[in-house]
Amino acid sequence: MDVKLNRLILFILTISVSAHAQDYVPGELIVKYKGKKFSASAQSASQKIMNEKGMSLKSSWHGLNMDHFALKPGDDVEAAAQDLMQDPNVEYAEPNYYLKKATENLPDEVMTKEQFEVLFNEYSNSDAEVGAQNISYSQTGAPVEIPEAWAQMSSTSYKPTIAVIDTGIDLQHVDLSSALWANTGEIPSNGIDDDGNGFVDDINGWNFVNNNNNPDDCDGHGTHVAGIIRGTSQDILANPLPAAKIKLMAVKFLDCNGNGTTSAAVQSIYYAVNNGARVLNNSWGGGSYSYSLHEAIAYSYSHQASFVAAAGNSGLNNDVSPMYPASYNVPNIISVSATTDADNLASFSNYGVSKVHLASPGVGIYSTYLNNMYASLSGTSMAAPFVSGVVAIMAREKQTMNGYQLKQLILNNVDTKSNLNGVVQTGGRVNALYSLNAAQSAAVDTYQPSYDVSANGNRGPASDMQSGGGCGLVSKLYKDYNDNQTKFQGPHNMTLNIVLVGLLIALPFALAMALKTQGQTRRRWDRFKLGSKIYVETIRGEFLGSVGTISIGGLELKTDQHLAMSDKVRMVIESPDGKEFVEVHGKIVWCNENGGSFGVSFVEVQEKSLLTIHTWTKQLVKAN
Ligand code: CA
Repeated sequence: MDVKLNRLILFILTISVSAHAQDYVPGELIVKYKGKKFSASAQSASQKIMNEKGMSLKSSWHGLNMDHFALKPGDDVEAAAQDLMQDPNVEYAEPNYYLKKATENLPDEVMTKEQFEVLFNEYSNSDAEVGAQNISYSQTGAPVEIPEAWAQMSSTSYKPTIAVIDTGIDLQHVDLSSALWANTGEIPSNGIDDDGNGFVDDINGWNFVNNNNNPDDCDGHGTHVAGIIRGTSQDILANPLPAAKIKLMAVKFLDCNGNGTTSAAVQSIYYAVNNGARVLNNSWGGGSYSYSLHEAIAYSYSHQASFVAAAGNSGLNNDVSPMYPASYNVPNIISVSATTDADNLASFSNYGVSKVHLASPGVGIYSTYLNNMYASLSGTSMAAPFVSGVVAIMAREKQTMNGYQLKQLILNNVDTKSNLNGVVQTGGRVNALYSLNAAQSAAVDTYQPSYDVSANGNRGPASDMQSGGGCGLVSKLYKDYNDNQTKFQGPHNMTLNIVLVGLLIALPFALAMALKTQGQTRRRWDRFKLGSKIYVETIRGEFLGSVGTISIGGLELKTDQHLAMSDKVRMVIESPDGKEFVEVHGKIVWCNENGGSFGVSFVEVQEKSLLTIHTWTKQLVKAN
């Protein structure tokens, strides 16, 4: 018991990219080759992957310099991704994550437009008051001042295009068909890609679920979202319905149950941007950090588009538990929480004073539904399209205003609410009238900050990927040299004489993700010098360890102490110049992930800490 080892033990650890239950498509990888164009070296890398690794090509996106592969049956996704990263021509390889619509429920009741009009008229003629305002607008009772904005919209004929990246749109819906984006470069049904954009007969958009030209909706979610967007620009109950003021591009990547994948989402975003969408509405999310999705959003930013994203419906703080895509830090993302008609945060809504920008109505929202019907739905899925609609009517006033400026204007013109203070970044809920007026009076400013994905990689600790923190892995463990290791089978026979050899810590993983493209020499995980100390608190006292280098593969920990379950780990990381410190806390736990192993769980690592460390690591020296 309590045998002290006589020498320092050097631990080099390995890490598993995903910290929790499999959230990606089994047997698939997305591979990005180095460089912007699909070159001869990418071609040869692709061939090599097929010939030597036994993978088969599912699809090639040469415009993005990416391939989508199916693995050889039985191969492990994460191991295969790590293996491919060793190829000097591969920029990254990652799992194809699952994504889903940001509304859980189906409508309680589906009604005809006539039934909906009756309901709305009864409601607005009653004494119902919400906040300080009578109900004057059909889709929400929240005082967002949408009809007031209609009255001040200019008579321009310019119609900005909003991509509804979703379950599709009911293309025949009487309230939506006249607002659909139409690809003027394409001759319908001639079997030819007339405009040469890579998609044959893409008239109203594209279906990335089945890879065809029919983005019709078989779920209802995208149709509902589309109706909110059009309904923000004009009264969709007007009879007859006037000409549309905006265009809705149907970009389908979620299936008939509202489920999709990163591979389809990435293609959807590039399609929307390349075909002229100024606003991308994203009422969906899920999965872990994805480099390819991050890059796709950065592409939308570099093309001056706005990227509006639902904050998610888990009731969680996105500052602690990132929700993707809402939590990427690309400067054109507008992340949206859902509020009630009385401007209270919806019980289900995610929030975050750093990562969520503003609130928008998302409870009991009436909008269009499949087969010319109407329905009420709730979710941040419904909150995001109000914001997309407001951005669209702003963009309509200023044809050349970029997504970055539109974001600043909409955030600066919310209705601030005391109960949203400290909940979302602006402390307010979207206001259509103020935002429209701000866009009308602002001079177009073409400036936007430069943004580099490789310098803004995954900063979220792996432990953030689920609520309450996750597990880092311990690659192996042993006690004294002479003892029998096979005794360790799990938490039930844990004793204090256990020595953890491999502390795999989620935090360095996150840091190293941001580092991995900085090295000149191509190696799977470049290792960087970073001095820091680890204080390990056990029932026997506090012991000191030290960390010399970090990499995405884990960290090297030197210690001569035994650790046990529930022991606390206090990691004090020094800046390279030794002048600053960041402290994070974890404890030794049994992880059910990865088949069961010992690990270190870090809970509530502050975003601020990660940003601080990220700043330091920009100056790190590569260790050999
Ligand atoms: Ca085409």
